Amino acid sequence: MSKLYLVPTPIGNLKDITFRAVEVLKEADLILAEDTRTSGKLLKHFEINTPMQSHHMHNEHKTVEGILNKLKSGMTIALISDAGTPAISDPGFLITRSCIEEDIPVECLPGPTAFVPALVNSGLPNDKFVFEGFLPVKKGRQTRLKLLSEETRTMIFYESPHKLVKTLSQFCEFFGANRQLSVSRELTKLFEETIRGTAQEVLEHYTLKPPKGEIVIVVSGKK
Ligand code: SAM
Repeated sequence: MSKLYLVPTPIGNLKDITFRAVEVLKEADLILAEDTRTSGKLLKHFEINTPMQSHHMHNEHKTVEGILNKLKSGMTIALISDAGTPAISDPGFLITRSCIEEDIPVECLPGPTAFVPALVNSGLPNDKFVFEGFLPVKKGRQTRLKLLSEETRTMIFYESPHKLVKTLSQFCEFFGANRQLSVSRELTKLFEETIRGTAQEVLEHYTLKPPKGEIVIVVSGKK
């Protein structure tokens, strides 16, 4: 039956995959994967033998047409990314939008994503929040930070370890050194940690102890 499934995969701990994710991946006619080598290991672990095709940021625009044709011919296709939920700071938005425009059913399964555990672990208000993903690297970065300095909801950012210290020092500058925040690192993995404190305290911590691994920063909104 023509359908696109977006299937979340573990962000570290393989036990976080759901029974339904495995079932959908086994039963699909085709799996679209961001990196077929990375996903190949996951599929092997769960004895999933469905054929895979690459679908990533660099070929997304070109492959959409072909994928739509496959779906229209009656195929069931499952989209996965390297880790977490597809389309969340990962490829998936374009194909989802195109399917909706073409009346092709789309279903995103619930499952692993990094920002939800980071938000809950932070202990910061989570009744309202904004997901910012990655900040612009250069162009537009200062403008974005200036705009966010007025944000009253809790903010969530994805960050890479080598940019963390720079980002925290900019948070001190734009949001104030006393702004409460938390850094969650290596969620669901062996060396998972969450460091909470003021922007200044967390900056000092990571200046002394340069971080490794994957990172989510959660920042309290303006009071
Ligand atoms: N689609 C993914 C999701 O649903 O969370 C996000 C993919 S994005 C390309 C990768 C970023 O997610 C990392 O740079 C990091 O900011 C965050 N991330 C992914 N796994 C993580 C983990 N285990 N611990 C902390 N952050 C993680």
